[in-house]
Parts: sequence; structure tokens; C-alpha cells
Amino acid sequence: MVSSPHCMTKTGDSLSCHSPHPSINLVMTKSVTQKSKTVSAQKVTLKLSCNVALFGNLAAFGAAPVLAHVLHNVLGTREDKRLQRYHKESELPPGKTLTSFDFSALEGVSLQQINALIQNPHWVEQGENLLLFGASGIGKTHLASSIGYGLVEAGIRVRFSSATHMVQELQQAKQNLGLADALVKLDKFSVLILDDLGYVKKTAQETSVLFELIAHRYERGTLIITSNQAFKDWDHLFDDSIITVAAIDRLVHHATIMNCEGESYRRKASLKRMASAQ
Ligand code: ADP
Ligand code: MG
Repeated sequence: MVSSPHCMTKTGDSLSCHSPHPSINLVMTKSVTQKSKTVSAQKVTLKLSCNVALFGNLAAFGAAPVLAHVLHNVLGTREDKRLQRYHKESELPPGKTLTSFDFSALEGVSLQQINALIQNPHWVEQGENLLLFGASGIGKTHLASSIGYGLVEAGIRVRFSSATHMVQELQQAKQNLGLADALVKLDKFSVLILDDLGYVKKTAQETSVLFELIAHRYERGTLIITSNQAFKDWDHLFDDSIITVAAIDRLVHHATIMNCEGESYRRKASLKRMASAQ
């Protein structure tokens, strides 16, 4: 291994450049690997095709800082584009972020807990779940969405959907004999947020795809679920109590459960608006 005076190391046919960006490693190889990239929550490694010999010569002439700067910008732009794509495909509700969430209005969940979930997403790598319970209007959707935004920023692929919409989508796929494919397609999202599970209508077909989704994601991908109904009321969600138990078992086996308590924020906000209009 050869070390250059600046921020580069050479190993065999590849040159590594430690970019000033803490989450980026540059690896140059002789091979054409323009499209090859490894993305993880913590670190982004991009392989760029380039002439290692030329690069080495430039480094020797003291051009390393300039090259590092240029590459840093190129990679920064790529990372921005990737993040933009992740944001777009996530379909997270606009504006429902952590900065617009008032934790003083909520009991049972703290900013520290939510920050820990975002900053240390090992639970996502393990395919663990997060279940958010609480009355209507308390902020479950906003909270789930905030976590989604935080995870996307950390480089994790997230998809937000109302549970009803997801069930309809899967039902449609099932009718077209494409349920297995549709479930596999969702695997690209490490995190699937199913909002308002309690509103899924109970028909044998609908609950069957819901169970199939839960069973498919089990220990494979994270589900974040919001519900205003406690487990004891989930019997009405699934057609059969054996399926209800099987679904709950899979969801809670590796899960964090948060109970949001307090007054409905939606109701409080409406009352405030009415009072100020009088
Ligand atoms: P739920 O999903 O529990 O029914 P929502 O998350 O949809 O509740 O919240 C209802 C409305 O109130 C949304 O517009 C949301 O942004 C807002 N809201 C709820 N809780 C808070 C909070 N603690 N801070 C800021 N806005 C909140
Ligand atoms: Mg909601």
C-alpha cells in the first residue's frame, strides 16, 4: 500500500481518497464501475472509473486536494440526487417532520426516544418493527412520518402509505395473480409505514393480503404501524382470531411499542381556532 501526502491511499489497482465529507469514501479502480455503488445507512462508497496511474501522478504533483475537492462535489451531487429520489419515492406527507412536532403536547413518547430511533437505526437493519398506538388526532401519523423523514436522511429507503391504500394495492395485485411479486417489490423499502391500520375494512380478501404482508415482512423488513385501536380490538381487523393472533405475534416479536397519550392535538387546534375567531 502506498500513501500519498494528502488524503489518498493506493492499494493494488485502486486508489482511496478520504473525502472531507464524513459519510463519503472514494474508491477509484481501473475497471469501469461508474454505476457500481454501495449505499448503507452510515457510509456511502462510490466507485468511479478513472486511470489510476494518471490519478497517482496528479496526486504526486500536489493536485490531490483539488481532485479531492472536485470528487467531493461530484459525490455530494450524487448523494443529493439519491436523497431526492428517496424522498420522492417515500411519499411521506409534506411538512410532517420532527421540527414541526411539539413534544410538550404529547405524553408517553419523548424527543430523545425518537432521535435514538433515527440516529441509531440498527433496529431497521434487524427488520424490527415500531408500533404507535394512541387516540385519533394525537399525532401518530405526524410522528411516524417524522421518523420516516429522519431515516430517509440517513440513507434508508422508506415508503409511507395509508394501510387502506396499501391493502387495496396488494389486493389488486392478488387479483392479477401478482401478489408475490408485489410483496417482493416492496422489499426494496427497508421501512414500510402503514398508517391507520385500524381503518382497514374487514373483508376476507383484504385481511388476507394484510396478513400476507405482515408475514412476508417478518424478520425481513421493518414495519412502522400506527393504529388508534389496541391489540385487543384487532379481532375486528382480521377475519379469524387465529390469524389475528398470528399477525400480532409476528409484529410484536421484535418491536418497539409506543403509546401516545394526551389530548387530541387536532381537537385542541380546532378549539383554539374557534376561540380566536370569536
Ligand atoms: P393521528 O394520526 O394520531 O390521528 P395526526 O398525526 O394526523 O394524528 O395529527 C393530527 C394533526 O395535528 C396533524 O395536522 C398533525 O400535524 C398535528 N399534530 C398532532 N400532534 C402534534 C404535535 N405534537 N405537534 C405538532 N403538530 C401535531
Ligand atoms: Mg393518523
